[in-house]
Amino acid sequence: MVSPHRAERPWQGQIEPTPLEASLAYDPACYLCPGNARAGGVTNPQYKGAFVFDNDFAALRVDTPKGEFRERDLLLARSEAGRCRVVCFSPQHDLTLARMSVNEIEAVVHAWCEEFSSLARRQDVRSIQIFENRGAMMGCSNPHPHGQIWVNENVPDELAREVTAQEEYFRIRNRSMLEEYLRLELDKQERIVCANRSFVAVVPFWAVWPYETLLISRRRVGSLLELGAQERTGLAEILRQIAIRYDNLFCAPFPYTMGFHQRPTDGAVYPGFHLHAHFFPPLLRSATVKKFMVGYEMLAMPQRDITAESAANQLRELPDTHYLHAK
Ligand SMILES: [Zn+2]
Ligand SMILES: [Zn+2]
Repeated sequence: MVSPHRAERPWQGQIEPTPLEASLAYDPACYLCPGNARAGGVTNPQYKGAFVFDNDFAALRVDTPKGEFRERDLLLARSEAGRCRVVCFSPQHDLTLARMSVNEIEAVVHAWCEEFSSLARRQDVRSIQIFENRGAMMGCSNPHPHGQIWVNENVPDELAREVTAQEEYFRIRNRSMLEEYLRLELDKQERIVCANRSFVAVVPFWAVWPYETLLISRRRVGSLLELGAQERTGLAEILRQIAIRYDNLFCAPFPYTMGFHQRPTDGAVYPGFHLHAHFFPPLLRSATVKKFMVGYEMLAMPQRDITAESAANQLRELPDTHYLHAK
């Protein structure tokens, strides 16, 4: 449901820059900065580039005992073992994807690939969820650029739904659903935000969040690991582009949850699964006004305040250099 008439004219052209929070290249109190102590007495090495370690407060644990709970065929629960990894994108505390170089982001892509490769080899790992929560609005308390990798012994619900839909589509049409969707978007040129030789970013037709975007690889691959060297560079470039455009939208650091969906790693073949990333940003009208998913959204269905086409148009028309570097 889209009801753009509901909002008052959202942007009158004048946007006041929101001041950046004071930030340092190194914060002695940050548990992610190089050389600093973490919980449990571990000290971070003097890392350069990306740095990956096990989350000290992991939600998923390798040593979870097997168990199942069932009551009258109504209530069902089972144990879930796994791991939670933390990926520092850079040793520099005050950077973000938007302000890192393509080379620096490539190092992050490389770290994601290495993690996927080593974790996927394990028998008890069936799915690998790479994501980033950015900004206090998304519950991220530490501004140090970092993301997470959650590893499951079962395929989580969101991914399971996508796997079922994409494999079903492939079975019937013998083509990847997202490949077909990408072709449609490239023909229409209405919802594309930016693109390069390897990746395309669109505001998807079904977007729920005002500035939600979907990043799709031009070539169908099931995971980051299957990307060639040029495609990995392309991924780094477009991640930077999306992050820059988001920051430029309200001339302020833009909060979001971003994550990749990749094929399950249970040993089965997924010919229809197509690597992509979702960006879910909460902002609606300005750096300080967010979209609330309440009331009708919780009880009935999501409602958009701006059309996907107008959101894509706004993001597409923004400068491709960061507002802090504009001059
Ligand atoms: Zn830090
Ligand atoms: Zn997805």
